[in-house]
Amino acid sequence: MLTNQHIAIIGGDARQLEIIRKLTELNADLYLIGFDQLDHGFTGATKCTMDEVKLSTLNAIILPVGGTTIEGEVDTIFSNEKVMLTADQLKQTPSHCTIYSGISNSCLNQMVKEASRTLVCLFERDDVAIYNSIPTVEGTVMMVIQHTDITIHQSNIAVLGLGRVGMSVARTFAALGANVSVGVRKPEHIARITEMGLKPFYLSDLVDNVSDLDVCINTIPAQIVTSQVIAKMPSHTLVIDLASKPGGTDFRYAEKRGIKALLAPGLPGIVAPKTAGKIIANVLTQLLIEQSHKGKENNP
Ligand code: NAP
Repeated sequence: MLTNQHIAIIGGDARQLEIIRKLTELNADLYLIGFDQLDHGFTGATKCTMDEVKLSTLNAIILPVGGTTIEGEVDTIFSNEKVMLTADQLKQTPSHCTIYSGISNSCLNQMVKEASRTLVCLFERDDVAIYNSIPTVEGTVMMVIQHTDITIHQSNIAVLGLGRVGMSVARTFAALGANVSVGVRKPEHIARITEMGLKPFYLSDLVDNVSDLDVCINTIPAQIVTSQVIAKMPSHTLVIDLASKPGGTDFRYAEKRGIKALLAPGLPGIVAPKTAGKIIANVLTQLLIEQSHKGKENNP
């Protein structure tokens, strides 16, 4: 249980509702900041503003998956008010207060460093990234169906990268009957792709592996689908770029060549916000319970 744990949930989207639901079930005292337009009420949760919350009582702060913007603003779909997080606010929290976010950026890192607080980036964890790849793949399948006039079955699909997302994407499209090739840079990944019964190639040979593609799915957060690569694709190829912004595709060149190239960020939150929220909520509650046990050991 999280009895007597004071937790501020600041901003976010529908995924945050699963976190609120789970934490209220565990009896935590929640302060919801940036939720003034949320109709739903949760027992044990108080809607308030950043100025109203007693920062000195907080055990944890939960930010949205995106953390803050580079200016320190916390995005929220449940309020029209601007919600800002500052290092001065973090300094007012107790030293044991932990900040949880999906990802971070230079602004959030700097704030946390200045306030000497601990930041936990949930999406850096393998378990979260692997669970999260499931709704990501379902969203990718949806996009391929929406943006092509052929079946996935028997289509030629290249997946770039064999990380947590790339592995799930390659396996799913292969299971749907596509001819899947996977581009990587490490020999052990070439071996794994071979073991999976798929066609491996080195990214250094990418330009030689796109001439018959129906779909190219990039998961590599680096400039990989360059103008030279796009120039070798058939004009009907669909490029779906799953890598975090700005993606790994030369979108301007693709447009110039008439190739449809789509950056598709945040698919789990779009296609399955409830599942995506549950994935975060499950790991988060485990971490908060561990944190509260440690707190009790240190202050019996
Ligand atoms: P990951 O496990 O770290 O995998 C990244 C892959 O990219 C690895 O295969 C890695 O290969 C390769 N790579 C990285 N830099 C490279 C470079 N410079 N050249 C060649 N290969 C490179 O990451 P992930 O969890 O799969 O996530 C992949 C991307 O998808 C991230 O940007 C993530 O933010 C994003 N994402 C998007 C969505 C969405 O909805 N669109 C959802 C989840 C994640 P090595 O092993 O050789 O380094």
